[in-house]
Amino acid sequence: MTTPTQTLGILGGGQLGMMLAQSALKLGYTCVFLEDAPHAPASLYGQVYSSQQLDEFVAKSDIFSLEFENTPVATASYLADQKQGIYPPPTALAVAQDRLAEKALFNELDIPTVPYRAVSSLDDLQGACDELGLPLVLKTSRGGYDGKGQFVIKTTSDIATAWGELGGAVTGGAMPAPLIAEGFIHFSREVSLIGVRGRTGEVGFYPLVENVHTNGILAKTTAPAPNADTLNQTAQASMKKLLEKLDYVGVLTLELFVSENGLIANEIAPRVHNSGHWTIEGANTSQFENHVRAVLGLPLGDTGIVKPSVMLNVIDKYPNVNELLTHAGVHFHHYHKAERDGRKIGHITVMPTDSEKLAETVQKVARLLQ
Ligand code: AMP
Repeated sequence: MTTPTQTLGILGGGQLGMMLAQSALKLGYTCVFLEDAPHAPASLYGQVYSSQQLDEFVAKSDIFSLEFENTPVATASYLADQKQGIYPPPTALAVAQDRLAEKALFNELDIPTVPYRAVSSLDDLQGACDELGLPLVLKTSRGGYDGKGQFVIKTTSDIATAWGELGGAVTGGAMPAPLIAEGFIHFSREVSLIGVRGRTGEVGFYPLVENVHTNGILAKTTAPAPNADTLNQTAQASMKKLLEKLDYVGVLTLELFVSENGLIANEIAPRVHNSGHWTIEGANTSQFENHVRAVLGLPLGDTGIVKPSVMLNVIDKYPNVNELLTHAGVHFHHYHKAERDGRKIGHITVMPTDSEKLAETVQKVARLLQ
């Protein structure tokens, strides 16, 4: 059993690391971070080491975890043999970094996905279009995020353009890998499930939430997702299979589409997730605290909700904070990041109050973010 003087070494120092550290500090632990970007938000909460300073980072840490999904698997595997090891396991990271491996795992566990094909050449792409039909989504199998590295092929005339845009990833770049062609799904909504598994195999689930993306970036999460009782059960069953198959420890996120054929799994994130930020105020134990508890071998906290919540991301520029804070039921989280187009720099969780309905406050806050 670890004691509360220990230090958690986190790979990545972004806002997820910052919020993990807020929970760890609350529980009596300290954090250090491995991060190359300057002015990392997590630097406010602990020492940041560059990848050149891996040895110092290891020396200062007792146990390791991660908040950055594109952390090299080699680094995570190395840390698995240092001190008390790394959670979640590097195998989960490896699967999550490769859309083809991820889809293969879903299929192995009988978790429905869109039909897909690996694409390593223009011929493959043409074959995938013939077999899967159009439209389809061509994606890089590695390294994409927030909708980047994707091309929707609507007509046969788009095929060459899509290959021209993404084909380079097959042989070029830092990590050459095939592309993946996915059948285009006409979903009614996008949802995600956050689960957590402790070191003793204990599991917990937050309620399924509904996500709205703008330009490929998460804009809004509604927790819990409305009318989702059956969906919750199905998603939890899938999550449980994934957690157990991966011998997972920590928070795992499963992103899904709701289609006329039920839930279709899109991808997993082996970490705390933007669609779980509402849990800081909206759940009995936040995703961040539960991740820290799981990694450190502590008992998991209750995942039940305190109040229904809506989380709005602050993207591009900060709102007028004075005006924002005049609204009751508003919880603002500033990431201490510079304003930049398309960048997540904060989030706001809105909760209902005695005097105002949730939807009304959400509307007012959304106006401040325009
Ligand atoms: P991803 O990077 O896989 O999360 O994709 C980013 C966004 O693109 C998703 O949130 C969906 O809105 C959309 N998308 C991804 N895959 C598909 C698909 N196969 N069919 C339709 N839309 C998709």
